[in-house]
Amino acid sequence: MRRKLLFGNWKMNKTRSEAEEFALASKELLELASKHNIDIGVAPTFLSLCKVKKTNPDLLVAAQNCHYAPSGAFTGEISIPMLLDYGIKMVIIGHSERRTYFNETNKTCSMKIDALLANDMIPLYCVGETLEEFEKGITKDVIYDQIKVGLANVKKEDASKLIIAYEPVWSIGTGKNASKEIAEDICRYIRELLREMFGDVSDDIRILYGGSVKPENVKDYLLQEDVDGALIGGASLKVDSFRQLINNVIE
Ligand code: PEP
Repeated sequence: MRRKLLFGNWKMNKTRSEAEEFALASKELLELASKHNIDIGVAPTFLSLCKVKKTNPDLLVAAQNCHYAPSGAFTGEISIPMLLDYGIKMVIIGHSERRTYFNETNKTCSMKIDALLANDMIPLYCVGETLEEFEKGITKDVIYDQIKVGLANVKKEDASKLIIAYEPVWSIGTGKNASKEIAEDICRYIRELLREMFGDVSDDIRILYGGSVKPENVKDYLLQEDVDGALIGGASLKVDSFRQLINNVIE
């Protein structure tokens, strides 16, 4: 039985004190969510990771990126040992904004995922097609490459640590969310690919939908068989909105 997961991606938002304020309030959110077997977490900027982790150690906390090398001449980057030093065990990999603005490819995602798993960490791997790809009807081809290349070296025994997020690029931050039918169709397809690669472990891997998820539509997605939660940008930034997301899932 896969536990539901609501995960906030804060992107480049919140100062350290704003992040701390949320983390304090999140104790009550965590209590509410765990009563209903829902996991919750957030991905703050690197500069707030430590504050959020210290303020609410029980909240799942992810970095938004990492480098695959343990150290070296990579100006501006943050390594996995540095994250571990802060107690961070989870990292978002391949978010579409990183693919678009920072040239991340399926291959570099694969290198990061391998490095995370070698350190017993959890990659939250994002996949999804652009509007042009969606309109051409090649969504599944794009997802196929992202999954097969990004997860090429993952060993069967590590696969259960993975979390996948299907985020159609055209729905991120646009208010144009994918229908629940599209979300289920693609999440189910992802699970089939995972089954080909890892066998029955695929039943344990959580697959999230992301893209303009709001309190009003979150339940529609979570009721789908292969959608195990949501990766949420804008609607995860305010405590009230996050609380509403949880409340609308459990009602
Ligand atoms: C995201 O940043 O991953 C995301 C899905 O953003 P939003 O919910 O704002 O569309």
